[in-house]
Amino acid sequence: MKTINKIDYKRIIIVAYRLPFRLIKKKNKHMAVQNSGGLVSAILSLSERMNQDKVVKSKILWVGTGDSNLGEENINPSFDLFPVEIPKKINDKYYSGYCNNVIWPLFHYFPQSTVFDNKYFEAYKEANNLFYKKLQNIIRPGDFIWIHDYHLFLLPDMIRQSYPDTNIGFFLHIPFPSFELFRLFPRQWREAILTGMTGADIIGFHTNDYTQHFLKSIKRTLGYKTDQNHIYSDTRIFKADSFPLGIDFDKFHTACSSGKTRNQRKKLQKHLADNKLIFSVDRLDYSKGFIKRLEAYDHFLEKFPNWHYKVVFNMIVIPSRDNIESYREIKKEIEATVGRINGKYSNLSWRPVIYQYKSVPFNELVALYDHSDVGLITPLRDGMNLVAKEYIASQYESSGMLVLSEMAGAAVELTEAIIINPNDIEETSVAIDKALSMSLEEKRRKISKMQDRLKRYNVFTWATDFFNQVYEVRNEQKKLQVEFLNSDTLESIKTRYQKSQKRLFLIDYDGTLTPIAALPEMALLNKKTESQLKSIASDKRNTVAIISGREQKFIEDQFKKLDVILVAEHGFFIKYPGGNWSINIELDLSWKEKILPVLDHYVDRCNGSMIEEKYASIVWHYRNVDEDTASMRINELKDDLTEIIKSESNLLMLEGDKVLEVKSMLYDKGTAGSSLISKENYDFILAIGDDRTDEDLFKIMPESGISIKVGSEPSKALYNIKDQAQIYEILALFLS
Ligand code: UDP
Repeated sequence: MKTINKIDYKRIIIVAYRLPFRLIKKKNKHMAVQNSGGLVSAILSLSERMNQDKVVKSKILWVGTGDSNLGEENINPSFDLFPVEIPKKINDKYYSGYCNNVIWPLFHYFPQSTVFDNKYFEAYKEANNLFYKKLQNIIRPGDFIWIHDYHLFLLPDMIRQSYPDTNIGFFLHIPFPSFELFRLFPRQWREAILTGMTGADIIGFHTNDYTQHFLKSIKRTLGYKTDQNHIYSDTRIFKADSFPLGIDFDKFHTACSSGKTRNQRKKLQKHLADNKLIFSVDRLDYSKGFIKRLEAYDHFLEKFPNWHYKVVFNMIVIPSRDNIESYREIKKEIEATVGRINGKYSNLSWRPVIYQYKSVPFNELVALYDHSDVGLITPLRDGMNLVAKEYIASQYESSGMLVLSEMAGAAVELTEAIIINPNDIEETSVAIDKALSMSLEEKRRKISKMQDRLKRYNVFTWATDFFNQVYEVRNEQKKLQVEFLNSDTLESIKTRYQKSQKRLFLIDYDGTLTPIAALPEMALLNKKTESQLKSIASDKRNTVAIISGREQKFIEDQFKKLDVILVAEHGFFIKYPGGNWSINIELDLSWKEKILPVLDHYVDRCNGSMIEEKYASIVWHYRNVDEDTASMRINELKDDLTEIIKSESNLLMLEGDKVLEVKSMLYDKGTAGSSLISKENYDFILAIGDDRTDEDLFKIMPESGISIKVGSEPSKALYNIKDQAQIYEILALFLS
């Protein structure tokens, strides 16, 4: 097992809708029974392993709904349980209402089953708040809070607001839908859900597709900037990533050879005689695709009559949510369909479908997995589907084959299975025949590949990966922490300056030397700054470079009276005092022809915006567009541009203050700064800038360098100043 090497959390608080156990009364005594579901199996396995592992000694606390007596029972020594009580009136609207009749159907691509009821949403907020109140009595500094699933979308931010320094992870166990689906939610719900989630340091999903959907929704709804998987809000940086949930491989694999499982297999063999066995097990849910599966089986029997009397389909449905009307209806429909198929084909000696509505004890489950010839797992939509993974892990002799829906998250990893589209009855029926007819050799080859993968990325690697990523993003946050310049630091910068002999100043223009103006042409260099810079540049020991995103002409006009190096267009052009402009890099700029028409279209649709075409880049300015239109259009534009940029190599989108710029990523203020720094042996280097493009410069600063960010946002710069006007105070340090 990979150890949780970088983590030293004394306490891990799991927060999930349900506690992992429930109490049942037997002979007047309470007995604890484990609840079903993927999350419970995963965390229980994890805690067992953590107990055995001497390196990790975290205490696990679990907060969730359940019998209030559970808190007092000593059910499992590795857990402390904290039941949350939600009054029935709220819980009905919260759990059955918002969770299972709103989020669940929409996130599983069943918009027609989604109930858009604001009362449900109100209950959802109340219930999340009850979890939060429970946590208030539990949280201690240094805790790691791991929040699970769609029942608790609002909780991460609620915690973050009161405990800004807490480690928070959020993991979603269901799919995150594409933005086109997500936008069906009223704007208020969308914003609340996303803002809630973004209180976490890491937001985890099962697959990369879900992560990308989430990032798109974040950009479109909240307008946050993203860079790969990192997300930047005004105050924080955090990350979304995929962590496919694994299973406890050894537990399933070794259970195949246990005495209990062997007994179960013997029973099965007796009942089945020479029949081949097709097997499926799922919770009762419309997303699992029962009816399509049965129809595909029916079609298979029609199409391949040679299998009659030779094959049996055992479909086990685990009771779930049967207090909800729509779930009771699916159950009825399943029963009717099973009845119809059996009525069509059965005779005294053969019944093609054996349907059971029950839970299955572990050893019976493993025996069924292991003994069956085909695992038929065909959800219409499923976040992951652990059953598919358990089926593969339980192939002791590799004599079975998995037919798996491409709509399950697990299909990304189990690529050697026979992958089908569950809506395609023809394809599924052919897949069943193929799986039944596959040679043992081929099955062994495929199963062994999948087993290797499941062994490697098991439930422990999943959790370890998650913990480690939280740890890493917390470190990144520390680096970006804002420290405002105070009089002591100013004094020490001055002392260092006075002691140095060879100094380099790398200074941004807009927003740094001048305040941002309504129109770019109005942002002129004022007399006071000009004279300060003149005095600094006149000292022979000083080299001053103005590193700007502006075009050559504008920047040259502003600094014509000064002996300074000018860098224009973010590092594309450079000009030394008295010299001519030259380019820093040769580039193919034909991509501009593709981007311009897109931006033109946005100028037409967005009153007040305009395009600035520079030599090596194109900028869309939207400072004068009204807030609402701008926030909507900018997100759409970013989306459109992302698509084009994907097909062009080395292009990137830069977001500045009310501007969006497209340029090559082969040069930036950082490459320009590095090349200037390497020219001499400087013993004092200072960089100042105000926006995201200046971060490239801060990034390449040597350890001894000083960097200052104008503004209060998180930055890689050593120090921040709140206000652009403070620039006078800084430049004054260097006047003779
Ligand atoms: N399972 C269970 N009770 C049973 C049979 C199976 O708890 O009677 C387990 C099964 O082993 C698997 C989980 O329930 O670990 C189902 O997880 P999956 O991801 O397949 O579907 P979900 O229920 O989360 O939608």
